[in-house]
Amino acid sequence: MSLVDRDRAHVWHPYSPASHTGPLYEVVAARGTRLTLADGREVVDGMSSWWAAVHGYRHPVLDAALHAQVDRFAHVMFGGLTHAPAVELAELLVEVTPPELTRVFFADSGSVAVEVALKAVVQATGRPTVLTVRGGYHGDTAGAMSVCDPEGGMHRLFGDHVKQQVFVPRPRTRFGEALLPDDLDDVRRVLAERDDLAAVVVEPVVQGAGGMWFYDPAYLRELVRLCRAAGLLVVFDEIATGFGRTGALFALEHAGVVPDVLCLGKALTGGTTTLGAVLTTQDVADRVGTLMHGPTFMANPLACAVAQASVRLLLDGDWQADVARVGAALRRGLEPLRGAPGVADVRVLGAIGVVELEEPVDMAVVQPGLVDRGAWLRPFGRLVYAMPPYVSTDADVDVLTRAVRGVLLP
Ligand SMILES: *Cc1c(COP(=O)(O)O)cnc(C)c1O
Repeated sequence: MSLVDRDRAHVWHPYSPASHTGPLYEVVAARGTRLTLADGREVVDGMSSWWAAVHGYRHPVLDAALHAQVDRFAHVMFGGLTHAPAVELAELLVEVTPPELTRVFFADSGSVAVEVALKAVVQATGRPTVLTVRGGYHGDTAGAMSVCDPEGGMHRLFGDHVKQQVFVPRPRTRFGEALLPDDLDDVRRVLAERDDLAAVVVEPVVQGAGGMWFYDPAYLRELVRLCRAAGLLVVFDEIATGFGRTGALFALEHAGVVPDVLCLGKALTGGTTTLGAVLTTQDVADRVGTLMHGPTFMANPLACAVAQASVRLLLDGDWQADVARVGAALRRGLEPLRGAPGVADVRVLGAIGVVELEEPVDMAVVQPGLVDRGAWLRPFGRLVYAMPPYVSTDADVDVLTRAVRGVLLP
């Protein structure tokens, strides 16, 4: 039996029924920007394994950091103990983020980071509810789901299991356009009506898995100003946008605003292991007091060691030029699709390229069509998108965009 058949007998995949029959590929090797499939084919990775593998696969510096830490110790509990990988990573994260953020809580994943952020703002304010915008994605655990888009997300499936939060419409002002005068009217109305809001929770500038939508920093600045004036804390989820993806090291820099709480994950470890981090101001830390969370694998030394190596590798390299190069190649390759039949929109920001369609893609056809053209991309809903590793060459990105044009154009 092939590995794929053995997989189908027992293994559950993301957002799929256990007996899923859609396309599934075995990877036997990954290096640089290439994934090698079991049938010998090589595909160019356009997903960075969901925003994470910004340096590509098997980067020698990251592999060396993992090996070195394995030879010391793979894990110890974090209650009552500490270690150099955690302390050094915390120092580095405080150094690269705005100076107001001085306290670091390590979480197991992005979703857990969002849970911790929600607990922190509830503990800090004594208020139970948060405000967010539609079209967001913040993870799959119960608290994180509660701030995901209520239509596109999973609220309906889980009913009362998911807390009712307060939603305003998705920002309509596109990135680079003048702020629409009425874009924050609902925010103003909600803030005037409610007195139970602990915080506003948003992905700054780029909404990721909730719709790959880019909105203008002016909206974010105004949102933060209004919420602060109403006594809310500000939580930014930069789990997808952090570490250069949007062209700024953190997307908050586009707006020049600083949150009270910042969630990081995904590219934090360069795509090697799971790790999340929650940064807060000293004021929030003081107001929280004892933060009631403590995962078994908190501050896992392997994850912290490789995260530190990944962040330093990023800072030591020319990531701005890399992100700009990848973005320019995406734009060149995707822009010809603008106005094509079935194409609703084409947008590129940083090293993110999005083709929004009028109808959902048929994955049974499109997924093998992309792989046959040498590209690893994973469309969802009406979105075909790429966020390649920053080390991708123009030739790599051309493979991706040619494959997208190949499957979308008649
Ligand atoms: C992926 C993602 C999460 C969840 O992170 P996981 O590591 O998958 O739990 C949260 N917020 C945003 C913005 C994300 O893109």
